[in-house]
Amino acid sequence: MIKRSVFAIIVAAGSGNRCPGPRAKQFLELQGKPIYIWSVKAFQETPCVDGIIVVGPGDDDDALLEMQTLTKTFPKVIKVVAGGNCRTESVSNGIAALRSNCEISKNDPVLIHDGVRPLITPELISQVADQVSPNSIAIPTTTPTATVKKIVGQTITETINRETTGLAQTPQGVPWALLRKAITHWHNHPGVIITDEGSLFENLPAEKREEITMMNVPGDADNLKITFPKDLNRAEAILSEREKLQKNIPDTSYKPRMATGFGYDVHAFAPNRKLILGGVEIPHPFGLDGHSDADVLIHALVDAILGAIGEGDIGHHFPDHDPAHKNRCSLDFLEKTILLVKQRGFYLEAADITVVAEQPKLKPYIQEIKIRLQQSIALPCQLNIKATTSEGLGFTGRREGIAAYAVATVTAT
Ligand code: MG
Repeated sequence: MIKRSVFAIIVAAGSGNRCPGPRAKQFLELQGKPIYIWSVKAFQETPCVDGIIVVGPGDDDDALLEMQTLTKTFPKVIKVVAGGNCRTESVSNGIAALRSNCEISKNDPVLIHDGVRPLITPELISQVADQVSPNSIAIPTTTPTATVKKIVGQTITETINRETTGLAQTPQGVPWALLRKAITHWHNHPGVIITDEGSLFENLPAEKREEITMMNVPGDADNLKITFPKDLNRAEAILSEREKLQKNIPDTSYKPRMATGFGYDVHAFAPNRKLILGGVEIPHPFGLDGHSDADVLIHALVDAILGAIGEGDIGHHFPDHDPAHKNRCSLDFLEKTILLVKQRGFYLEAADITVVAEQPKLKPYIQEIKIRLQQSIALPCQLNIKATTSEGLGFTGRREGIAAYAVATVTAT
C-alpha cells in the first residue's frame, strides 16, 4: 500500500464575539495554554498526521507573531498563516499554504479543524483520517441528546427523528483534490455561507459530487466547541478528569526481580493429523487440530513464559490467522519466546508443565520431550513435565482432546 500523507489545517482566525473578553476566544487560556494550542498538541501527538498549517487572525499581526512563536515547539507545524474575513476564506488561505509548502498528492487526506475545539483527541483524529478515501470525505458527528424540533419563524412544525440527525464536529477530512475543487467552486460562486467542509462539499454542483460519499464518524461528546464563557469551565473539568485517568494508568515500566507466569491450552483430537507434544511426534491414531502443529504442551509453556515477562499471550505474538504460522512447528514459537525473555532482561529459571490426556500414555516420551524443549531453550533451566488423566471426566476424559497447564518462573538478569 502506498503511504498517504495526512495534513491538518487548524483554523484559529475567528473574532469570537460570543465569548466576550479582551481577546478572541482561541487565545483565551485553558489550563495555562491558549485554547488553539491544545488542538495543535493533539494533532502533533497523532501518529498519522504529517504536517499542520495553523491559520491565525488576518487582522492582528501581533497575534500571528505570538502564534508563530508558541507553535515553534511543535515540529509538525509547517506554517502559521493569516486568515480571511470568513471561515472559508481562512480555510482557503490554509490550502494555499499547503500547496506552496508541502508535497501533497491528490488523494492525501486534509483534516480541517476548528481551533476552538481544544478537547479533540488523537484517537478521533485518526478515525477521521482513516475514513477519507478518493471517494469519501469524513465528518464526525454526535447524536443530539434532546428531542429535535423543526422551527419555522415562531412555530414548531415537526419533531425530527433525532436518530437520523447528527451534530457536526471537526476535524472534517477531505481528499486534497476534492478540497481544492470545492474551494475553487466557492471562490467562483461568492455569497454562499459555508460553516463546515461538509457544506463546502454540498455546495458543489450535483455532477461534481457524484460517487463521493460523506462518511459519518462517531464523534466525541467531549470535543466541545468553545462558544460561550461557561464552555471554558466545562473544558477545564474534562481536562482535569482526563489527567486523573492518565495518572491511574498502571506503571508498565516496573520490572520485577522475579516473576511467575501461568499458561493453559486445549486442542481437540482430529483425524489425519500428527500428534506432536513438546516437539516430539507421538504415535497415535489422532493428532490435534489447530492452525500450527497444535502442540498444546508448548503453547501452554509459551503462554506461561510470556505471562512471567509481562508480554501478553501467544495469540498476540503468533496470531493463528497469520498464514506464516500454518502448520508451523511450535518449537519456533518457544525459541522466539526465549529470545524475547532475553530482550526483556530476564532469565527463564524453571517451568513446570502438566499435560492432561486419557490417551495416549505419555510417560515413555517425557524424557525425550524434556531434551527437545531443553535444546530449544538453549540455556540451563529446571524443566519438569508431568502427565495425568482426568479420571474419565470432562472432554479430556471423553478422549476428545488434550489440555496442558504450565507455570514458568523468570528472574531479572
Ligand atoms: Mg494452542
